[in-house]
This record gives sequence, structure tokens and C-alpha cells, in this order.
Amino acid sequence: MPVRTGEQYIDRINELNSEVWLGGKRVTGNISEHPAFKGVMESQARLYDLQNEEKFKSMMTYKSPTTGNPVGLSFLMPKTREELAQKRKMVQQWARESNGMMGRSPDYMNTTLMTMAASAHLLEGKENCFPENIKAYYEYVRENDLCLTHTFIEPQVDRSYIYYENSKEPIAAKIIDRTKEGLIVKGARLLATQGGITDEMLLVSPGRPYNEESGFAFSIPSNTKGLKFICRESFVGGDSKFNYPLSSRFEEMDSIVVFDNVLVPWDRVFFYDNIDVAQNYLNKCGFQQFSLHQVLSRQIVKTEFMLGLVQSIIESINISSYQHVQEKATEIIIALETLKALVLKAEVEADINDAGLMQPNSIALRIAINVFPKVYPRFAEIVQQLGASGLMSIPTEEAFQSPIRQDIHQYLQSAADNAEDRVKLFRLAWDATMSAFGTRQTLYERFFFGDPVRISMALYDEYDKAPYVDIVKKKLE
Ligand SMILES: Cc1cc2nc3c(=O)[nH]c(=O)nc-3n(C[C@H](O)[C@H](O)[C@H](O)COP(=O)(O)OP(=O)(O)OC[C@H]3O[C@@H](n4cnc5c(N)ncnc54)[C@H](O)[C@@H]3O)c2cc1C
Repeated sequence: MPVRTGEQYIDRINELNSEVWLGGKRVTGNISEHPAFKGVMESQARLYDLQNEEKFKSMMTYKSPTTGNPVGLSFLMPKTREELAQKRKMVQQWARESNGMMGRSPDYMNTTLMTMAASAHLLEGKENCFPENIKAYYEYVRENDLCLTHTFIEPQVDRSYIYYENSKEPIAAKIIDRTKEGLIVKGARLLATQGGITDEMLLVSPGRPYNEESGFAFSIPSNTKGLKFICRESFVGGDSKFNYPLSSRFEEMDSIVVFDNVLVPWDRVFFYDNIDVAQNYLNKCGFQQFSLHQVLSRQIVKTEFMLGLVQSIIESINISSYQHVQEKATEIIIALETLKALVLKAEVEADINDAGLMQPNSIALRIAINVFPKVYPRFAEIVQQLGASGLMSIPTEEAFQSPIRQDIHQYLQSAADNAEDRVKLFRLAWDATMSAFGTRQTLYERFFFGDPVRISMALYDEYDKAPYVDIVKKKLE
């Protein structure tokens, strides 16, 4: 099947009728019509439609090596620097649709799956490993243009070094049986963003599984029997795009995933009961580098949006002549240009990896993922510092049709904008940084790729510090 349309995405997710729980109730009927999911599913559908638009087709798709059909470019196994750049442009085109607010648009997991399949050879000849399954699964997802959620971490019960779960009933998802049909999994996992509105879910062991039952990787359809997605409350403020310009469209939802004796058929198991593979496969297959290339490409688009937002506020209330205001906007400019430089460095210094893929430079990307969780919360802070009371002078759309509309028009105008445009702008700034949706965006950018503390440790470990120690040694000689 060639790339799918938005309508096909929505129809399929509705048909799956996965077990999604929200506010203590199971979501029934078409999930695409539920207020918590409607907006984001429409936005996701728009991404699929974009792939079919004549104007974007060549940018968003490539010819499937097996069927010749046009398939999504995020599945491409890049062999050249040009192809890496092509992937960046594709990711950024999708990201522009949400101004980078949809962190888990399908390209994120498509990229992850691509790297896992390209490195299937790492599973070759290893105990309880099925390299052919991961390759077949990648082809299946690519050819049917499916989307995935994933859960890579265990419930936050006890994060001390010495914790070893010994509860009678599993808390963290683990294999409790191996049958003729497949593995039986019980327990929970965190945190599936978009859980319940994707076709499939991929599970890979956390970085350091402590026992064999937790050392696995597999993927299953979202509607597999016994699989539950338990959602947090929805951060959609309402339907109105005026009142809730971002949350009405891009609220991705996060969910806890529960496995109630879930059967994972053998053809969906990539490996199991193998601690060594579980500890090393993801790192060795270049998952971090390729996923971070996707991540950084999106974050650049998000930073462009934040700069545009801050500059619009500055112009609206005419504060550009103040030095501290310029300095604050400049902070975002510096971040933006740094991120752009890093993505180019990652591409220019890319090299062929063991799987024959053109792998972007790791250090440049690790720098970027260390920088962004620090600068993004600062962007939100700058919006608040410059927006000030304007961020609370934001009557809703209804006020503009009410008997007090003259007051609103008179008192909420600004130097550059009439009241309606000014309120729209400040509502956008509020939704980006202060609403439940906005503050979740900040938490997301802090944590979605892992704990920032350990992310910085990974950079320290990988970075070659020896040449610099030599400089000092030579001076001491
Ligand atoms: C909005 C959002 C969306 C997400 N979406 C997804 C998703 O789609 N799929 C997915 O798999 N995951 C997702 N995540 C989870 C994300 O991967 C984790 O938040 C991240 O890995 C950190 O793990 P944790 O939240 O369990 O924090 P913890 O590991 O519990 O950390 C809590 C605190 O303890 C400290 N700490 C804990 N252990 C150590 C240690 N060993 N050394 C030093 N300090 C330590 C941390 O630094 C931190 O300050 C999402 C998270 C968020 C916030």
C-alpha cells in the first residue's frame, strides 16, 4: 500500500478500538470523535495527507525497495549525507504543522524502527533473538504506513541503585510465561505518548534490565487483548482554536500501559530472555543518533516558533528598544543558530556505520540534546517575562461577541495590534507556555529522551577528552 491518507489513519484507529481509559471510564465509540483525541488525531491525519499532496510528495516519500510504492521518507535507510539532509527536511515539514509541539509525530518511531531493522545483524546467532522478525516488522509498518507508540521505561516505584522488584504480582512489565503461541507479559510500562491513537506499540527493555524476564523487545497492535492505556487527564482546553490555539490541535496525551497477561506472538518478538542483548542492542544500532537527528530537526522548528512568538509580543506592545528585552530575544536567536549549526555538523560529520547507514555525528547530537532541555524552559520563562500581565489579559472568543465587546476592543488594543489580534497572540503565548498543555511541553522537552542528568553523563563518557589532557600535560612538561 502506498502512503496512507489522513482518513485512512483515522478509520483504522477507530476500527482498532483499543482499550483506552480516561478519567476512570473506558473510551467508547470512535476515539477520533472524543474531545481529548479529536484535535490531535486531525493534526496527525493532516501529516498523512501532506504526504499525498502533489507539492510535497517528492519531499515526503521515496520508492519502496520492495514494492515500488511511494512510502514515508522517515522510513528511509540513509546511505548518503544528501539522504540525511532529505530526512531532516521531511521531518521539518511535518514539524511545521504543529510548530514542533507534536514530539511523537510518526516520524519519531519510524526512524527508531528503521535503525533497529538496519542493525538486525546484531541479533544474528544470539540466544532468543529473531533478526528476521524485526526486518519483516519494519517492512510491514513501512508498507502499510502505520504509526507506533513506545514505552521504554518502567514504573517509577523506587529508583535507588539497590532496588530490585520482588513484589508477588509484577509491577514493571515482565515475561511471566513462554508458550507455544508466544510470550505472556504482565505488568506496566511508562509512558506511552499517543498511546491508544497509534496502530502499534513497540516495547524495548530499559537501559539496564536486572533480570532475564525484563530483557525483551517486541511490538504488538494497540488493540491486543489485555493491553490497556490509562491516560492522564486531557489538557485540551476546548474546541475553539481562538481560545486554545495549541491544545485544541496538538495535545498528544500520555498514558500508562498495562499488560494484563498479554500474548505476544512469536513473530512479533525481536528478542527475549537475553540481558546482554537487552543492554546493548539499542545503543549499538545507532538508535540514539538517528532518533536525535529527527528530534533536533523538530526542535529547530519549535525554536523558530518560540522566537517568532517572542518577537511578535515585543512588536505588539512596542518594547523592542529596551536592552534587556533585546538580550532576552537574543538568547533565543543564539539557541536557534546553535541548534541549526549542530544539525549541520551532525550531517557533515556523518559516517557509515556497521549497518551501512550514513549515521549522523553522535557528539553534535548529544550536545544538542543536552542544550535543549536547558534552553526550552528558558524560552517559556522569557515569554512570561516579556508578556507579563498581557498573558492574563486574554478574554475568550465569546467576549468579542458579547455586550462588552466595545470595552474589549478599546482597552485591549496594543501599539501594533487591534484587540482581537493582540488577544489571539497572547492566548497563543499562554497556551505555549502557561496552560496545562504549555507546561507539559516544558516537561516533555526536559525528559522525553531520558533523564537529562544521565544524558549529560552519556556525553561525558563518549567525548574524547584525552587530546585536551595532552595539551595540559605538554605545558606541564
Ligand atoms: C511528557 C512526557 C512524555 C514522555 N513520553 C514517553 C514515551 O512516549 N515513551 C517512553 O518510553 N517514555 C516517555 N517518557 C518518559 C521519559 O523517557 C522519562 O521521563 C525519562 O526517561 C526519565 O525517567 P523517569 O521519568 O522515570 O524519571 P526518573 O528516572 O524516575 O528520575 C526522577 C529523578 O531522579 C533522578 N534519578 C533517578 N535515577 C537516577 C540515577 N540512576 N542517577 C542519577 N539520577 C537519577 C533523575 O535525575 C530525576 O531527577 C515521557 C516523559 C514525559 C515527561
